[in-house]
Amino acid sequence: MLTDDARQQLVAACHRLAAEGLLIGTAGNVSIREGDRVAVTATGAVLGELTADQVVEVDLDGNQVGGSLVPTSEVYLHLSLYQKYDVAAVVHTHAPVSTAASISIGEIPVVHYQQLLLGGTIRVAPYATFGSPELATRVVAALEGRAAALMANHGSIAIGASLDKAVENALLLEWLCTVYRDALAMGRPATLTRKQQEDVVAAAIARSYGSVQEAGQEKGESE
Ligand SMILES: [Zn+2]
Repeated sequence: MLTDDARQQLVAACHRLAAEGLLIGTAGNVSIREGDRVAVTATGAVLGELTADQVVEVDLDGNQVGGSLVPTSEVYLHLSLYQKYDVAAVVHTHAPVSTAASISIGEIPVVHYQQLLLGGTIRVAPYATFGSPELATRVVAALEGRAAALMANHGSIAIGASLDKAVENALLLEWLCTVYRDALAMGRPATLTRKQQEDVVAAAIARSYGSVQEAGQEKGESE
């Protein structure tokens, strides 16, 4: 059985992603895994107004074990990601800039050091019909070694070790797509060299970048 906390986390995440403009109406779906149970949004639910009774519980084989509504049509995609990767949450959106990028570009090269939090170059999974096993297979492949990817002519996908992390990754991808779009409009975007990327990773490890630090500890970046 899923805990009420998992359901509440899922509801809060959907409300936040809708407030940030990533989940629009009924488009997109979010899940969180607890052991061998997965809480996933119901198909047709308005995600910005999601309630706990619109959360459906399935096992890792896709059998519905809780909730009275029909799960999202992308439930197979979510389960495929849990089967392949050791992650606790999946966020799929039709966020506007990510979706536009998925239509127009083949990948996003490494153009900003924060992108390394997502694993580097952002791949675009080739198009397949929503809800199909082919789409799940292609998205699983696009996420190899990555925390986010684009789905061609469809939208974005992000995974994380926690639901908060998956939400942050989805937001970071939408930000990156926005920056890359603007950079393309201004000229020819420069990319980070492999050496520059390695230096970022070394500096991040040395400074525990990305984690909140108590004053008095060694100072990290002030961003
Ligand atoms: Zn979709």
